[in-house]
Amino acid sequence: MSHNYDFDLIAIGGGSGGIATANRAGSYGARALVIESDEVLGGTCVNRGCVPKKVMWYGGAMAHSLRDAVGYGFDVTVNGFDWSALVEKREQYISNINNAYANYLGKNNVEILSGRAKLVDAHTVEVKGKKYSAERIVLAPGGYARVPEIPGSELGVTSDGFFEFKTQPSRVLVLGAGYIAVELAGMLNAMGTKVTLGIRHGSFLREFDLMLQERLTEEMLSDGVEIKTHFTAASLERKGDLITAVGEDGERLEDYDAVIFAVGRSPSTSDLGLEAAGVEVDKRGYIPVDKYQQTNVPSIFAIGDVTGQAELTPVAIAAGRRLADRIYDNQEGRHLDYSLIPTAVFSHPPMATVGLTEAQAREQYGDAVKVYQSNFTAMYNSFTPHKTKTGMKLIVTGTEEKVIGIHMIGLASDEMLQGFAVAMRMGATKRDFDDTIAIHPTSSEELVTLR
Ligand code: FAD
Ligand code: NDP
Repeated sequence: MSHNYDFDLIAIGGGSGGIATANRAGSYGARALVIESDEVLGGTCVNRGCVPKKVMWYGGAMAHSLRDAVGYGFDVTVNGFDWSALVEKREQYISNINNAYANYLGKNNVEILSGRAKLVDAHTVEVKGKKYSAERIVLAPGGYARVPEIPGSELGVTSDGFFEFKTQPSRVLVLGAGYIAVELAGMLNAMGTKVTLGIRHGSFLREFDLMLQERLTEEMLSDGVEIKTHFTAASLERKGDLITAVGEDGERLEDYDAVIFAVGRSPSTSDLGLEAAGVEVDKRGYIPVDKYQQTNVPSIFAIGDVTGQAELTPVAIAAGRRLADRIYDNQEGRHLDYSLIPTAVFSHPPMATVGLTEAQAREQYGDAVKVYQSNFTAMYNSFTPHKTKTGMKLIVTGTEEKVIGIHMIGLASDEMLQGFAVAMRMGATKRDFDDTIAIHPTSSEELVTLR
């Protein structure tokens, strides 16, 4: 019976997932507690992820607009760029969000406790030597950036270190091939840093549709990013104030102010007391859950990055809210459907994707697959000296031509995809797209006029 416990729900982690779960539970009248080990609330996304990243991305986009302005008749002289001023404003903006979270939790009567939490058993958590019990516990501790185990690795930083740069580095080597590598390389380059992107294979974002990989590679190269393919760092060395990365084949990438590792993230599960509570983890340390986010222990749930499924903020939030809806608002069966999750990469230009890649579609549906695509220069770029191409791909299957994949790259792709993802979720066919009147003149009209 819940009244035997201090709380109905304890969330370990005050990031995207923990806050969303506790808030929704609190809004239904549950007695909820959020425990956060950082000094501030918000977790990775707010403090060292999505939010500061998007601010810096806008900075890069602004630099591109200034470059493009001449095409529209403006005679612009840029006298400089004050990195530290932007960083200071960014941190103020984040601090406002930190405070807003505390207020928001307070409105739903959610209690907040500062400190590192450890499970003691299936219903008890210990923080700074004091025990707190709950009918249910939600594990939402997120993850941390991995650092390769190579000599000199302490000379490099991760994305956390990037957000601590108080001045703009003039030369940076980014090592990695995922979202973070591509995003950091793009924004630094746009803001005037000389960037080398070192990737282990022939391309980055290898899970994404080939069209996106190829188009972004072309754009980054024409924007001035140096891409070193087939480069795996074996060590980092210091030379005065600068850093050299030595590849496994002996190739030396020299004289960088900073080296950023963006080689993936790992779950924060090592110090959580999982064994004491009997919670199982997989080989990589992630916590397996069923479709209701339940771990192998009935009173313990896990959400967000720690589960290793689609490590995105809206996914953590949606999983947590649905869990609270089901348990505290009797919405029987409510759970997150992890299929058809739309996502954007804030590269320059941005890209967005939902559903199957062409390769996945062909593997799954064979000859029933048909691909519609378009590559064009958006009207905006018809006037600018630097031309950026927009690419769109619609993947359909069967005689009814059900849409099973949408991939786009180009200006505003990140903003365009959301509505199309709704259509896909509703089972839209190519005919539905064709029957939708275009909005003119835009880039998104291309998706409803593909032939
Ligand atoms: P987190 O947000 O990491 O929160 C976990 C919290 O738990 C942390 O605050 C941590 O301090 C706390 N904690 C850990 N252990 C304990 C403990 N034992 N006791 C108490 N507290 C503990 N996603 C997007 O959707 N869009 C983006 O644009 C995007 N950009 C990103 C950019 C970067 C550079 C990074 C690193 C990530 C980005 N992400 C983005 C991913 C997104 O940040 C994560 O998916 C999201 O934050 C996961 O939420 P979470 O609640 O699982 O974990
Ligand atoms: P990812 O898992 O996306 O990518 C890391 C990549 O780095 C790997 O896929 C691998 O690619 C490469 N890699 C792995 N080990 C090494 C190594 N030792 N040396 C060089 N390269 C290596 O991780 P990220 O850290 O970029 O991002 C973590 C997650 O955060 C993302 O998956 C995403 O879910 C989320 N995120 C979301 C964003 C958004 O929504 N816009 C932005 C940022 C993060 P390969 O095998 O090809 O070498």
